[in-house]
Amino acid sequence: ATTWDVLVVGGGAGGLAAAASLLKRRPSLSIAVIEPADTHYYQPAWTLVGGGAFDPADTARPMASVMPRGVKWIQSRVEAFVPEQNQVVLDDGGRVSYRMLVAAPGLELHLDGVEGLRDGLGRNGVTSNYLFEYAPYTWQCVRDLRQGRALFTQPPMPIKCAGAPQKALYLSCDHWRRQHRLSNIDVRFHNAGGVLFGVETFVPPLMEYMRRYQVGLNFNSTLKAVDAGARKAWFVDTDADGNRQEREEAFDMLHVTPPQRAPRCVRDSALANDAGWLDADPDTLRHNRFENVFAIGDASGTGNAKTAAAVRKQAPVVAVNLLATLDGKPMSGRYQGYGACPLTVEKGKVILAEFGYQGALQPSFPLDPTKARSSYWWLKSKAMPRIYFDLMLKGREWLTG
Ligand code: FAD
Repeated sequence: ATTWDVLVVGGGAGGLAAAASLLKRRPSLSIAVIEPADTHYYQPAWTLVGGGAFDPADTARPMASVMPRGVKWIQSRVEAFVPEQNQVVLDDGGRVSYRMLVAAPGLELHLDGVEGLRDGLGRNGVTSNYLFEYAPYTWQCVRDLRQGRALFTQPPMPIKCAGAPQKALYLSCDHWRRQHRLSNIDVRFHNAGGVLFGVETFVPPLMEYMRRYQVGLNFNSTLKAVDAGARKAWFVDTDADGNRQEREEAFDMLHVTPPQRAPRCVRDSALANDAGWLDADPDTLRHNRFENVFAIGDASGTGNAKTAAAVRKQAPVVAVNLLATLDGKPMSGRYQGYGACPLTVEKGKVILAEFGYQGALQPSFPLDPTKARSSYWWLKSKAMPRIYFDLMLKGREWLTG
């Protein structure tokens, strides 16, 4: 049986960026990507789809069309990692062997973590930009709502694109404001966490938008159950002393950001840390115990913001350090924890939050990062999708690395 030089698990942003980066550096490598899905999604644009500002079809591409030329695509799902034997087990029971592994299976939307959610999505105003099939329904709900109550939820961290729950809110509110409906709509944000945004610098300008849209803010308030038929949601609120209280709220629209966790194949494996994520070194992205394993993307427990922007900076670090390890040389690549969250505070304007580990600001442009700009809206809606597909997934890093 074949032993691949590099086996990549997951053909999402991280897996494909890493495979492309490796092949650019060393075309002689034999690389296989294990990925079950027929379609690859550009998820960052789903926020814009939910705001009526992006064609959903442009976020989906056939997987075959984005696989880097020269890699072998194994269309299958990994059931289990067996790092002690340098193998993975597939869903049909077959095994695949490797010399080096790149683990990039993304994260899992834990829909069953909220009672009634799976069943309720897509009807009676219950929606989520986190799923391709429902992001267009968000925009339909926003257009249809003339009065009543709209709830937006954020689950406990970590989640991918931590700003996305409030981006959905801002774009909805902006539409209602332009349509002169906002004063008839009671908008509430239920955040399981205690702060509006994890990096303090960006909190004041975001609070200003919350005020402008007259949003009721509920911190430490976690969505537990939904009854789409009755248009009711239940939250558990925790006060400063840790007392928990259940609260029922009726709604006309409910935008849910589902709870998120590491995929089961990672959680149940020897590769996981205590929280279930890939136990990788935050600087080198190499696994802390298995030296021939690297992690990239949302499944990593590296503490950066889980974003495609992070993947863009991680891919060359993984490639350089993996090749060094393969060659028995010291690793020279260092990841600074970069991630970016373009906050779509109104249609046509974005606050571009770029930061690394411990919230250290890492702006790409010498401009006040707290200011909402139309140039950043252009960057988010026009430039980034092209950078993603034409540069990042093709390993063309001299422009973006
Ligand atoms: P993914 O791209 O999700 O890919 C994971 C892949 O692994 C999938 O193709 C899946 O099929 C495959 N897989 C899963 N399990 C297995 C298995 N067992 N075996 C084999 N393959 C498997 N990022 C930004 O940079 N900016 C943004 O503005 C932004 N906004 C976002 C808004 C929304 C609504 C969402 C949902 C995401 C957003 N993101 C944003 C986050 C970004 O999309 C992710 O961080 C990025 O896709 C992570 O890449 P990944 O490869 O780790 O995971």
